[in-house]
Amino acid sequence: MTPLPTHPLATQELLKQLGPEKVKTDEATCFAASYDNMRLSFMPEAVIRPGVEEDIGTVLKLANLHRVPVTVRGRGTGNTGASSPIRGGWVIHLDHWDKIEIDPVAAMATVQPGAITAKINELAAPHGLFFPPDPSSLKYCSIGGNIATNAGGLRAAKYGVVRDHVYALEGYLPTGEKVTWGAPLRKFVSGINLRDLWIGSEGTLGVITKAVLKLVNRPTARRTFLVACRSDEIALEAAAQLMGLRINPAVFEFLDTQTVAAAEKQRGSRVFSSAELKGVETTHAILLIEIDGHPATLAEDAQKVRAWINRYAVAHRETDNETEAEALWDIRRTCSQAMYSLGNAKLNEDIVVPFKSYVPLIQYTQALGQRIGLATPTFGHAADGNFHVHIMYNRDNPEHCRKAEEAIYEVMKKVVELGGAITGEHGIGIAKSPFLSLQHSPAEIQAMLAVKKALDPNNILAPGQIFEPLNVWEYRPVKVHCAWDKH
Ligand SMILES: Cc1cc2nc3c(=O)[nH]c(=O)nc-3n(C[C@H](O)[C@H](O)[C@H](O)COP(=O)(O)OP(=O)(O)OC[C@H]3O[C@@H](n4cnc5c(N)ncnc54)[C@H](O)[C@@H]3O)c2cc1C
Repeated sequence: MTPLPTHPLATQELLKQLGPEKVKTDEATCFAASYDNMRLSFMPEAVIRPGVEEDIGTVLKLANLHRVPVTVRGRGTGNTGASSPIRGGWVIHLDHWDKIEIDPVAAMATVQPGAITAKINELAAPHGLFFPPDPSSLKYCSIGGNIATNAGGLRAAKYGVVRDHVYALEGYLPTGEKVTWGAPLRKFVSGINLRDLWIGSEGTLGVITKAVLKLVNRPTARRTFLVACRSDEIALEAAAQLMGLRINPAVFEFLDTQTVAAAEKQRGSRVFSSAELKGVETTHAILLIEIDGHPATLAEDAQKVRAWINRYAVAHRETDNETEAEALWDIRRTCSQAMYSLGNAKLNEDIVVPFKSYVPLIQYTQALGQRIGLATPTFGHAADGNFHVHIMYNRDNPEHCRKAEEAIYEVMKKVVELGGAITGEHGIGIAKSPFLSLQHSPAEIQAMLAVKKALDPNNILAPGQIFEPLNVWEYRPVKVHCAWDKH
């Protein structure tokens, strides 16, 4: 690995213009900003915590003058290395800008980019409102990171992803000029929509300093169902059937048999008792369903779900009680960590496939696991086909690493063949940069690069991300503890 280029004169000038309070160059601060949840560390030369918005313009103008790479960092929970400064240079860290204002009449939240996603909901709740996008990391991640990755979550199938809840963005172009895209209005079609271009662009097209978000009414009732199916295939066939009933579940999660077995091992107990399973002792797949809305429509939908359960399930539980619902959620919350009983490292993909490909996908991951001798547990969002396909391996075993590396390329190829997408919520970053050309034609990639060049002529913001395939297997993850590791 070649050492990253440095820019000592530019960093001196930066320190002179912004001062040592805002610009840190010590090793500990730089290391903390050098990796995200992918845990590949690339050291920056300086970490900038701007004081006022204009500081960002100053940083970007200096960076353009001296050709210094700049990476924007929210709270570093990303799974793709997108906030890692892979070309070194400077990191703009925005976790301290975390103000949230709720306008209950307009049902809007005006937020700074560092605001923690869960906090927005905490403040919206007393007004009977909520911000639906709910990545599992919502207690740790920032809204800036959510917007930059167009994050999704458990409730995306019914309520949509982040893009569906952004009215306006303010921020800075890579060249350092201030811009506003959209407005705090329910309708706005003036000019070309660059707001939506920023959303999901993974910090490559601009720095978000403020967002106006759409809030929606909090549902007044919910009912949760936990359903066991005899096999992965039956569960996934059932999932497609449920979606055809026009119930519009708020949450609809699938856990395959490998995932359930690992989670049950971690809990030390079966999810359903032998009596509930009526003698079906083999491990089963699980579906977790939550419907929400007005109590009257909920009762009608619950009847439809029960009829569906009678056709496909070997056991089920249901509740409208908050505490009991939490207990039903336990298996879903356990499964991510439980996988480590199957290997000390995991590749966690977030692919998407259409309904018709649910069963072929799971049959493919089962066969792949058997062929390469590594576990391939799969769970995820059954309402929108966004599944987390995992390959569990032992990082210290070179044979495992080789097999995992080859297998993940195969998985991505298969997903595209099945009419799917290589990522549904995490983004490309560096992790999926080698697969971009599986998903997109050369003309599509050229068009994206033309946009990037038009907005960022000196390739200052997040250079190397998305478009330049990086062999992540050449790097070893750093051993660090992150606040979300227990989840
Ligand atoms: C346990 C766990 C569960 C997760 N579950 C989900 C899930 O269910 N759904 C999901 O979508 N993701 C999930 N993620 C991934 C991650 O939490 C999301 O991608 C999140 O949106 C990242 O937010 P962040 O603040 O940590 O951003 P970071 O990781 O700091 O940055 C992510 C990207 O956003 C850019 N960025 C950040 N702030 C700005 C800004 N102000 N302006 C411009 N660009 C910016 C960065 O440059 C980078 O490209 C999970 C991660 C973990 C660790």
